[in-house]
Amino acid sequence: MNSKIDISDFHWLLGMLNGIDVGLIVLNKDFKIQVWNRFMSAHSGLESNAVHNRNLFDVFDDIDEEWFTHKVNSVFMLNNQAFTIHEQRPYLFKFKNNRPITGTAEFMYQNATLIPLTNARGDVDHVGIAIYDVSDDAVNKTALHSAIAELTRLSRTDKLTDLYNRGYWEDCLAKEYGRYQRTRQISSLLMFDIDHFKQINDTYGHQAGDEVIRAVSGLLKESVRGTDIIGRYGGEEFGCILIDTDSNGAMVFAERFRQAVEYCTVEYQETEIKFTISLGIAELIKPMRSHTEWLEASDQALYSAKQSGRNNVKVAVIE
Ligand code: GH3
Ligand code: MG
Ligand code: MG
Repeated sequence: MNSKIDISDFHWLLGMLNGIDVGLIVLNKDFKIQVWNRFMSAHSGLESNAVHNRNLFDVFDDIDEEWFTHKVNSVFMLNNQAFTIHEQRPYLFKFKNNRPITGTAEFMYQNATLIPLTNARGDVDHVGIAIYDVSDDAVNKTALHSAIAELTRLSRTDKLTDLYNRGYWEDCLAKEYGRYQRTRQISSLLMFDIDHFKQINDTYGHQAGDEVIRAVSGLLKESVRGTDIIGRYGGEEFGCILIDTDSNGAMVFAERFRQAVEYCTVEYQETEIKFTISLGIAELIKPMRSHTEWLEASDQALYSAKQSGRNNVKVAVIE
C-alpha cells in the first residue's frame, strides 16, 4: 500500500465519527475509554475529555460489570464481533429517550455491536462499540405485542358475558380430554341451560333476557375455582370444565349453583325477574373416545334434567 493518510483525512474521518447518529466508543484492555463520539456525549451529558482514559465501569456504574466484562473479553480473545440486543437487555447505557415519535419509552432502547480492533501486528488490543438507538423499533414491537395479546383475548371472549366463547372453550375441552389420556386425572363437565328462557324474552323483552344471561355469568364467575374453565356455549347455555373434580364433587357444586340462581333476582326497569336453570354432569371416564363424546354425555344429562321437570341436576349414566 502506498497511500498515505494525511492530517486532512483524519479531519473528515473525525467529522464522520462525530456526525453519525450512532454511539461509538473504543475501549482498551483495561476497559479505559479511548474514543467517545458526539452521540455519546450528547446523550450521556459527558464530554469526551471528561471520560477519556477513565474506566468504563467507574463512569457508568449501572452497567452489569460481570456480564459486560465477559462479553468484551470474548471479543479480545476470539477476534470475533459480539452483539447485545434490546430484547435481551433493553440498553447498555441508560440514556433518556428523547425521540419525539416514541416519547412513550422513558429510556433509549439500544442494540450494540462489539468490534475487535487490531493493531499493526494483527493483535486485538482495542474493542470498538457501536450503540444503535432502536427505541422506535422496540416501542413498535411492544405496541404490536400488546395489540396481538388484546386481539387474542377478544377472539376468545364472548362479548355479552366476558366468558370464553364457544370456539375457545371447546378447544379447552379438547385439551382437557387430551390431558386426561396422559395423566388420568379426573375432571367433570357441567353443562347448564336457563329454563323457559324464551318466556323471559317474550315477557320482558330481549334486553331483559340479556341482563339475565349476564347475571347468570356473573354468578358463575363468582362460584367456580380459578382452575375451572367456563364458557358460553350457546344463547343461554353454559359449559364448565371442573378440573380435578369427580361427579360427586361436581354434584355438590352444581346443586349449590342451582340454588344460587334460584335465589337470584334480576331487576330490569323496575321489574323483578326470577328464573331457574337445569344442569347436566358427566365425569370424564375411560370409554370416552373423544371430547365430543364427553360433551354429548353431559348434554344428555342436561336433557334428562329438563325432562324431569327442570330446575334440577342430573348426572350422566355411562355404560
Ligand atoms: P328450556 O327450558 O327447554 O331451555 O326452554 P327455553 O325457552 O330456554 O328454550 P331454548 O333453550 O330453546 O330457548 C333459547 C332461547 O334463547 C331462544 C333464543 O331466542 C334466546 N336467546 C339466544 N341467545 C340469546 C341472547 O343472547 N340474548 C337473549 N335475550 N336471548 C337469546
Ligand atoms: Mg333454555
Ligand atoms: Mg337453550
